[in-house]
Amino acid sequence: MTSYIFPPAPQPSVAVRGTEQRYPVARIFCVGRNYAAHAREMGGDPGREPPFYFTKPASAITASGSTVAYPPGTKDYHYEMELVIAIGAPVFKVTPEVARVAVWGYAAGLDMTRRDLQAEAKKAGRPWDTAKGFDHSAPASELVPVADAGAVFTRRLWLEVNGELRQQSGLDEMVFTVADVIHELSKLYALKAGDLVFMGTPAGVAALQCGDQFRAGVDGLVELGGHIA
Ligand code: MN
Repeated sequence: MTSYIFPPAPQPSVAVRGTEQRYPVARIFCVGRNYAAHAREMGGDPGREPPFYFTKPASAITASGSTVAYPPGTKDYHYEMELVIAIGAPVFKVTPEVARVAVWGYAAGLDMTRRDLQAEAKKAGRPWDTAKGFDHSAPASELVPVADAGAVFTRRLWLEVNGELRQQSGLDEMVFTVADVIHELSKLYALKAGDLVFMGTPAGVAALQCGDQFRAGVDGLVELGGHIA
């Protein structure tokens, strides 16, 4: 048995509907720019720019119902409500058809963003890590296994802050489908069970403040909530 100089950090994981067993998270991949209207609100051109990818540490996963600490180093702490895909099988350089079969389940998640640090990074041509990969930057709902999810892409993604609707969009409005995204990511990484993919946010991103309550979900599928403190 391996001996460590201090106890290893706990394995990040997500609750799974219908079982006591949890889904252990290995990596978190995020898609940037997968809704035309959000690409436009961020100053991009959805017709010209394909999606791109960034990552968060697995430890950024935060359970629904948590109190989320307002992060340090920002004055512009944004929500981005997204569909989350959980990978359940190894996928490396696969076709979209094979990629689709690797989806184990679905969740709803927030790609929390220090927008001011992201703007500085973009301007200076620097990495986005401090803007995207900080503690508690990935609040997520429980996971619903594919077999229990029914039709997913006819559903609506939504987010409310203090009871007011801030984001909503049909999941059929994503520019790149789940199969497309996993296919593209699998050209860059040997994906495996435990990898989550945040699929990108629709328009309507804005800042949260201390004291705000958020609720978000995919209609009839999953919901998450939390409180900024
Ligand atoms: Mn995002």
